[in-house]
Amino acid sequence: MVGEESKIRVVIRVRPNNRRELEQSQRTVVKVIDQETILFDPDEDEDEFFFQGVKQNHRDITKRTNKKLNMEFDRIYSEEDNNETIFEECTKPLVTSVMNGYNCSVFVYGATGAGKTFTMLGSDYSPGLTFLTMRELFNQINALRDERKFDIGISYLEVYNEQVMNLLTKTGPLKLCEDSHGVVVSGLVLKPIFNAEELINLLTLGNKNRTQHPTDANAESSRSHAVFQVHIRMTEKKTGQKRTVKLSMIDLAGSERAASTKGIGVRFKEGASINKSLLALGNCINKLADGSKHIPYRDSNLTRLLKDSLGGNCQTVMIANVSPSSLTYEDTYNTLKYASRAKKI
Ligand code: ADP
Ligand code: MG
Repeated sequence: MVGEESKIRVVIRVRPNNRRELEQSQRTVVKVIDQETILFDPDEDEDEFFFQGVKQNHRDITKRTNKKLNMEFDRIYSEEDNNETIFEECTKPLVTSVMNGYNCSVFVYGATGAGKTFTMLGSDYSPGLTFLTMRELFNQINALRDERKFDIGISYLEVYNEQVMNLLTKTGPLKLCEDSHGVVVSGLVLKPIFNAEELINLLTLGNKNRTQHPTDANAESSRSHAVFQVHIRMTEKKTGQKRTVKLSMIDLAGSERAASTKGIGVRFKEGASINKSLLALGNCINKLADGSKHIPYRDSNLTRLLKDSLGGNCQTVMIANVSPSSLTYEDTYNTLKYASRAKKI
């Protein structure tokens, strides 16, 4: 069926400048050209901006030449696009696929501070993709209740330093075991859930349990991958036919290099593990996009955990988050490169 085969959609989200970036009136290093094209590191003239009617010149003679890199993605979201829009276009279609029996997954990728958690969890004023997607899921479930019986359970796990922790119960590390059906997390008890509102408290609680350490680079730096999964068991009332599907929403650890955080000792090890999982994920997505037969799921615990939710009949959306400011030039460049590798076919 068209639109239901294995597919990876890669989109970019540019967040608004934050106060610090505005105060330092930094140069903007990304320019959204249209809905599918983004220009990284534009020329000064393409980037001129006016402050109180006066053209500002940001010329710096020591600066390297502009990269002027035009890149194409499935969709580019600018600072004006909100969580609702991204939900409508990126994850609402996944809910329909889930109801049709396909595992689906959504990733937010990017450096710390680029907007991953804002996209996934949102704020008090702007619920994120997880809530919006779960609300849609319950809408579609309720519309089908006459025909099917549903059992819904969630899990919220953290992969930190290659260890799997349960964010809802604050227990772990949990072992990943492989049986004939795939990878299972031993000892994991799914939490039954009955509506989307109930979920928000669980997610907020779980998010508080994420491992966080202040570092030189960012006080709220998150070095863990948060993996939220909804497991749905559907039973057709007429035939008794059963199907189990999974929707995974993953808030990845910051993609910035360990080197930029002056990490030593335990921090350094964290950095190495983060790169291991992000690298493995990138490799898997890249291989899937290439149509390769062998997908290196076993290379990290994150990819082992997501083995049945990537590739095959799964639908995957990767949302790469970037800041527009030259303060994070390298991070933005690396994120766009990672995202374009994931997209390459
Ligand atoms: P990350 O999870 O990638 O480290 P956050 O989602 O925590 O980054 O975002 C960093 C800060 O920027 C937060 O204060 C967040 O509220 C704000 N922010 C991120 N994206 C947006 C956006 N699209 N609109 C408004 N504020 C945003
Ligand atoms: Mg975050």
